[in-house]
Amino acid sequence: MKRFLALGAFLLFCFAFPAEAGEFDAARQRMVKEVLADAAETASYIGSSSFNPAVVRAMGKVERHRFVPSGLVSLAYLNRPLPIGHGQTISQPYIVALMTDLMKVKPGEKVLEIGTGSGYQAAILAELAVSVYSIEIVEALGREAGARLKALGYRNVRTKVGDGYYGWPEAAPFDAIMVTAAASHVPPPLIKQLKPGGRMVIPLGTHFLTQSLMLVEKRKDGSITSRQILPVRFVPLTGGH
Ligand code: SAH
Repeated sequence: MKRFLALGAFLLFCFAFPAEAGEFDAARQRMVKEVLADAAETASYIGSSSFNPAVVRAMGKVERHRFVPSGLVSLAYLNRPLPIGHGQTISQPYIVALMTDLMKVKPGEKVLEIGTGSGYQAAILAELAVSVYSIEIVEALGREAGARLKALGYRNVRTKVGDGYYGWPEAAPFDAIMVTAAASHVPPPLIKQLKPGGRMVIPLGTHFLTQSLMLVEKRKDGSITSRQILPVRFVPLTGGH
């Protein structure tokens, strides 16, 4: 009986575990293909038919199934947003890749994310070898994401719970800022915390159907330009501002 159990455990270890890991890997590579197909389809909006190879590598590496609620793991590699509790969502992989690509971050740069949510977007940024600062307003989500990122070994991500509208003045200025919730206007504190030459990606618009993903740039002389990229649908930026 003992021997039988040991053999069973051995077989389980040999077959079940690698099969599961392999299954996720294949699903993730399929997700990346879909993201790239979406990029090609939206080339006229985004100004390029593909994403930077470093962004594609990060999308192929970060295990999205570790960032979704346990009941939704089987849906983790669909190219769609998923609920993460507290009325919030983990963004669609194509949107994560697009927003990351638009930031044009280089290794060593400092990046601020508003809306940590699950921590998935922060992990993608961390894979680009930048230092990441991420703020979440829902305490439970912020704490969970912080613990998750730590457990996954991301040492270049700092998280905190608070209202991201006001940015992270102690860590400013940033080379790039990403807001992952829709705002009615670009928060002036975030403009202030952006370095000259820096980029900000932010969905603007109050109603779910009329939001636009904007690329805001601060020129070296401090002047601001902005460009509308794509119609999008994000949860709203909340807080007391
Ligand atoms: N980037 C996340 C997706 C987050 S959805 C991910 O990869 O999973 C948007 C997040 O923004 C939500 O978690 C929401 O709670 C948060 N949020 C909304 N308003 C905020 C604010 N004022 N400051 C910080 N976070 C905010």
